[in-house]
Amino acid sequence: MKIIASLRQMKEASARFKNAGRTIGFVPTLGYLHEGHLSLVRASKKAADATVVSIFVNPTQFGPREDLAKYPRDLARDARMLRAEGVDILFCPDAAEMYPPGYKTYVEVHDLQNKLCGRSRPIHFRGVCTVVLKLFHIVRPDRAYFGQKDAQQTVIIRRMVRDLNLDVRIVAGPTVRDGDGLALSSRNSYLSPEERRAALVLTKSLKEAKMMVARGQRRAAVLIGRIRSLLRAEPLAREDYVAVVDPEDLEPLSLVKDRALIALAVFIGRTRLIDNVMVRINAKAGAGPGRKR
Ligand code: AMP
Repeated sequence: MKIIASLRQMKEASARFKNAGRTIGFVPTLGYLHEGHLSLVRASKKAADATVVSIFVNPTQFGPREDLAKYPRDLARDARMLRAEGVDILFCPDAAEMYPPGYKTYVEVHDLQNKLCGRSRPIHFRGVCTVVLKLFHIVRPDRAYFGQKDAQQTVIIRRMVRDLNLDVRIVAGPTVRDGDGLALSSRNSYLSPEERRAALVLTKSLKEAKMMVARGQRRAAVLIGRIRSLLRAEPLAREDYVAVVDPEDLEPLSLVKDRALIALAVFIGRTRLIDNVMVRINAKAGAGPGRKR
C-alpha cells in the first residue's frame, strides 16, 4: 500500500491506474477507522481493480464549536488496518494543500443541506460536498462508497453527482453495528462507559419504531412521539432531532407509505450521535438496529 499526501502525486497515481485500464474504487473517510469503514473498503475491493481510501479530517465541515481539534486520529493504526485489507493507496492530504490561503470555492446542495443534521450543523454539508468534489477530481474514482449510517450525506452526495454530471457511481453500504446494536462511529470513542450504555437508547428507539411500523403503525407523529418518550427516559440523552422523512428528498412524512427513513440525532453527554433505519412496507424491511452484522 502506498501512502500519498501530495495532491499531485495522487493525481499521477490515479492517471497511471486509468492508463492501465484499471477501475478505481474510492472510500473517503475522516479516519480513526472501524469495521463500518472497512465494510466499504471490502465492497470497493470486490468491485474495483484498485482501491483508494482517503483520511482527511476536513476542517470545512466542522462548525466553530464542534470537535475538529479533538476528533480522534491514529494514522499508524489506520494504515495498518488498510494494509491488511489490501488497499492500494492511502491518501492523506494536508489541510494546507487542500485549502491554501485565499481559498474561496464551495459547493452547496440547496434545501437538502438544511434539513435534519443541517439544522444544527449549518455549514456541515457545504464542507462535505466541497471536499468530496475536490477528492473526486483528485482521485477520479469510477465508484465511491458511502455508509447508510450517514443517510443524509449519501442522499446529498448522490444529488451533487447527478446535478454536476459527475462520472462516478455512488454506492451505499449498510450500517455496521456493535454486537449490542450501537452503530459504529469514530465518535463512540468519546463516550464514558456509562454514556456508552446510555447510547443504546438510539438503537432501542429506532428498533421499537421499526417494530411499530411492522405491526401496522403508519402515523409519523406516533412513531416520533414514542421515540421521544424513550429518549426522555434516558437521563444522559438529549434529543437534537427525530424525523420520519422520504428517503430521497428528506421531506417530512405524515404517513409511512412504501419507504421511510426514520432518522435521529441525540446528544449523549456532550457527544452527538446519529443513527437511522429504513422502513419498507410490503417488502422485507432493510438493515436496521435489529440486525447484527
Ligand atoms: P467518517 O469517517 O465518519 O466520515 O465515515 C466515512 C464513511 O464511512 C462515510 O461514508 C460513513 O457513512 C461511513 N460509515 C461510518 N460509520 C459507518 C458504519 N457504522 N457503518 C457503515 N458505514 C459507516
